[in-house]
Amino acid sequence: MSSAPSTVDSATAAAAQGAAPRKPAWIRVKAPTSEGYAETRRLMRAHKLNTVCEEAACPNIGECWQQKHATVMILGDTCTRACTFCAVKTGMPGAVDILEPARVGAALAKLDLAHVVITSVDRDDLVDGGAGQFAAVIGEIRSRAPNTSIEALTPDFLRKDGAIETVVAAKPDVYNHNLETVPRLYAEVRPGARYFHSLRLLDRVKQIAPAMFTKSGLMVGLGETREEIHQVMDDLRAANVDFLTIGQYLRPTPKHHAVERFVHPDEFAAYATMARGKGFLMVAASPLTRSSYHAGEDFRRMKAVRAARLAQG
Ligand code: SF4
Repeated sequence: MSSAPSTVDSATAAAAQGAAPRKPAWIRVKAPTSEGYAETRRLMRAHKLNTVCEEAACPNIGECWQQKHATVMILGDTCTRACTFCAVKTGMPGAVDILEPARVGAALAKLDLAHVVITSVDRDDLVDGGAGQFAAVIGEIRSRAPNTSIEALTPDFLRKDGAIETVVAAKPDVYNHNLETVPRLYAEVRPGARYFHSLRLLDRVKQIAPAMFTKSGLMVGLGETREEIHQVMDDLRAANVDFLTIGQYLRPTPKHHAVERFVHPDEFAAYATMARGKGFLMVAASPLTRSSYHAGEDFRRMKAVRAARLAQG
């Protein structure tokens, strides 16, 4: 199936020996240098906004920021969890900044985006897990940038009763929560999370707001099998999730979870075909796919696909 099996096999062998496998050619990206990138960076700094693009060292930052597409990370830059794939720092976060919603709203009024993704660190220290801040930020964006569609990419709100309902009541256009990996790998990849809780969160959003688009993402290359990915697809469809993203896991630093395998683009294409066959409205699967990559274009396409299906009855 693959035209480059030797690269994939050498990645697996290198991972088995504890060495860092070389990135295959299909993963390499250009350093960000464009004017648009510099302008987005300036705006983020001027409004003191954190982004996942920078905190997670995302390989797509040059392309996304050139197009003024960024994923804004609210509620600080320190996370109460310690997922082994994630570059965001772990610790005890500071107090919630009550001026943050207004700052995000002001920045987005200037950026005038078609679509924005709002996410946060995990805030297990807060009674509501940060759901109230999500709602306040969504409200500010609605009033300051009414033409911008909003995607809320939330933590799992484990043991935070009422948090999902608070975010849904703020009416984001898309509710996104990433499963990240297959259930067998949760203990080592997302040690503070529970697979079935995350799945129930997505199901609950659809129960409360059946018309709200729901979305979830997976990383591959962490040691999962294809059969496990297919099972997760079935679980997500059982929860009526509309949109699935699948991308290659990249190790942010040598201290993080090893890349077990670089998945060939042909295999991503096979995952996409399988997922479409299982009924997802929208699927994005490629080595550089991230949960928020091309989120605006994909949101518009997903709306069109739903409208066409409804028209067909
Ligand atoms: S893919 Fe998402 S996290 Fe990465 S640069 Fe683009 S918007 Fe930021």
